[in-house]
Amino acid sequence: MTHGSRLEPYRLIYASSAIRRLNAHELEEILAVARRNNAHLGITGMLLYRNGGFIQLLEGPEDTVLELFATIKADPRHSSVMVLDERSVDKPALSDWSMGFCEVGEGEGAGLFALTERAIDEQLADTPRAILRFMRNFYAINRD
Ligand code: FAD
Repeated sequence: MTHGSRLEPYRLIYASSAIRRLNAHELEEILAVARRNNAHLGITGMLLYRNGGFIQLLEGPEDTVLELFATIKADPRHSSVMVLDERSVDKPALSDWSMGFCEVGEGEGAGLFALTERAIDEQLADTPRAILRFMRNFYAINRD
């Protein structure tokens, strides 16, 4: 099938900056609403957070993903929302999670946030692949 087919799941990855560092309660609030809505909408994905930075992957029917992304993008709790990758895919990568979550510490995940800043400036094609690899690994370890 061609890019953009409405039958294939659509994947969108973006990065953004929280308006300030959010505490655990504020992050839980975002996740609770995301999980409730996404389960209803048939959306799956994962949110990474580090020091006020977000990276989120959303997967599901194309129209639904794009509509939800428009809502998320307008959310005043974050800004500088930049799409890193969007495409139709054969199957969702994180199909059991209405919205997985990882607060990223040091190590590989931290590197992703640094990479993401460069990716936005320099349009690095490898960055979405590195994000996906990190999320798939995290999913494989934590899905049960
Ligand atoms: P509402 O019933 O309008 O709001 C639900 C609750 O969200 C409110 O009770 C309140 O506690 C909280 N809330 C809403 N806006 C604010 C605000 N400006 N400040 C403080 N608290 C507020 N939504 C999804 O459905 N799926 C997602 O995957 C998703 N991911 C997100 C990722 C990020 C980084 C951010 C910042 C938001 C995300 N959201 C997501 C939230 C989204 O932007 C909308 O707030 C939400 O979809 C509105 O849903 P609703 O109309 O059911 O919620």
